[in-house]
Amino acid sequence: DVSKIYGGSGGLFGFGLGSQVRALDGVALTVGEREIVGLVGESGSGKSTLGRLVVGLERPTSGHIILNEAARPGPPRGKARSLGPQIIFQNAVAALNPRRTVKDAILEPAVVHGLLTGPADAFVHRLMDSVGLPASLKDRRPHELSGGQCQRVVIARALAASPKLLVCDEPVSALDVSIQAQVLNLFLDLYDETGCSYLFISHDLPVVERLSHRIAIMYLGRIVESAPTKALFAKPLHPYTEALIASVPDIEQQRRTFHPVSGEIPSPLSPPSGCHFHPRCPHAMDVCRVVQPPLLAIEPGHFSACHLNTPPAFAAAGASGPLG
Ligand code: SF4
Ligand code: MG
Repeated sequence: DVSKIYGGSGGLFGFGLGSQVRALDGVALTVGEREIVGLVGESGSGKSTLGRLVVGLERPTSGHIILNEAARPGPPRGKARSLGPQIIFQNAVAALNPRRTVKDAILEPAVVHGLLTGPADAFVHRLMDSVGLPASLKDRRPHELSGGQCQRVVIARALAASPKLLVCDEPVSALDVSIQAQVLNLFLDLYDETGCSYLFISHDLPVVERLSHRIAIMYLGRIVESAPTKALFAKPLHPYTEALIASVPDIEQQRRTFHPVSGEIPSPLSPPSGCHFHPRCPHAMDVCRVVQPPLLAIEPGHFSACHLNTPPAFAAAGASGPLG
């Protein structure tokens, strides 16, 4: 039940008096052990905020991030202990110190946190090898590497901390399309090798479809649908998810026209009342402008927040409520 509010009384430098942005509004999401969960939404939907909260870069305004460390058996003796969840950002070049070599970048977290259990060179080579970087690049600096190589260094640095959960915030969006596929394959290989769970954040539905076991769709700070990946594509329940899927050009089906989601995502400063999606929704009803639809399990494991999907029992209860 995590919410995050930015700004507030007074606003920045006294401007925008009292204006608040509710970046996250009562978000509930679980990432299981060895699970890859995709988090999808347009920019401004709150995905990155959630990612930053998960790794502790920021704190929620209300609600809790619960890391179930206790449920896990401890690391085998002699193995590096985990530093908790790690995050990989979109801009790998900016995430690296321009004056540091590849070796230093990868070693830093291990040295700072006393994780190094053997010779430094062997540690660095093993991590470079696991992300497909030749050891000969270890003395290079970021400007001597390609964007894809920089992202591999950032991934190796995150793995140095032996995370059980990796938050990947648009990790391939800044890369050339040809390189994107390589780095996505790397994430899949690393999943097999490390047993890490991923929270994989992207605005790009096909990217997330390829990797994720389960997908959560965000809109203006709320999760509007979540389901196992196959179920989500086979039977999307929320009109926003339907629109996102319809906006992906489909080469196999030779769909020649595709339908971008109409309208623009409204400002999080003044989100629409009721269902935030109602100004763009082709199925909007009167109730949608007034009542915020709760996220409910419509089918086992398949959640949707839309008045169209409300189970009959709930609708009946609502019908006898104050809104008739
Ligand atoms: Fe559309 Fe209403 Fe469902 Fe929102 S609650 S997605 S406006 S039908
Ligand atoms: Mg973002």
